[in-house]
Amino acid sequence: MRVLLIGAPGAGKGTQAVRIAEHFGITHISSGDLLRAHIVKGTSIGRSAHEYVQRGDLVPDAFVMDMLRKPVVAANASGGYVLDGFPRTVEQAQAAYLTARDLGVAVQVAVHLDVARGELVRRLLARGRGADDTAEVIEHRLAVYEERTLPMLDYYREREQLVIVNGEREMDEVTWSLRVQLQRVSRTLSV
Ligand code: AMP
Repeated sequence: MRVLLIGAPGAGKGTQAVRIAEHFGITHISSGDLLRAHIVKGTSIGRSAHEYVQRGDLVPDAFVMDMLRKPVVAANASGGYVLDGFPRTVEQAQAAYLTARDLGVAVQVAVHLDVARGELVRRLLARGRGADDTAEVIEHRLAVYEERTLPMLDYYREREQLVIVNGEREMDEVTWSLRVQLQRVSRTLSV
């Protein structure tokens, strides 16, 4: 199964992606984690991405696409993937589809983990992951999400690939709900 998890910073996307990956025996691919690893290692992608990530801005598409090609193809060969953090814009979704279609690795279902803005801010301030989680950067990351990522929901909705899950409930309840929804979808897919 090939799943995309869409959620704002603070929606619990990373945690749920790990759980879904484990439950369905698919690979968790987080563009944010991969970028941070590149930055720590000081690779050329890392050096190019560093300032964007620090500001909470989106890294240019070419770097992200380049970085993800291999992991996505490898994950597809071993049961599928849950993508976390990519695609993040309509442009990335379109580009990813065109690249992935020919390889037979395109997203089959997109899940929106829905959490209201006020709750996101509360969670992000409580989490405080360090320099990239100041109130100012949090506001900026949320604004980028609303402006660039939210329109992507329509892209998947129009393709009848969108499932919405209420992410404001207790974590285990959200996981349960995600599992049920994905189980149902997976029965309709030829995987
Ligand atoms: P995340 O851990 O998903 O919140 O991502 C952390 C940061 O990595 C983001 O604020 C962006 O700077 C960068 N990033 C992650 N995924 C993408 C993507 N698909 N496109 C562009 N930038 C990304």
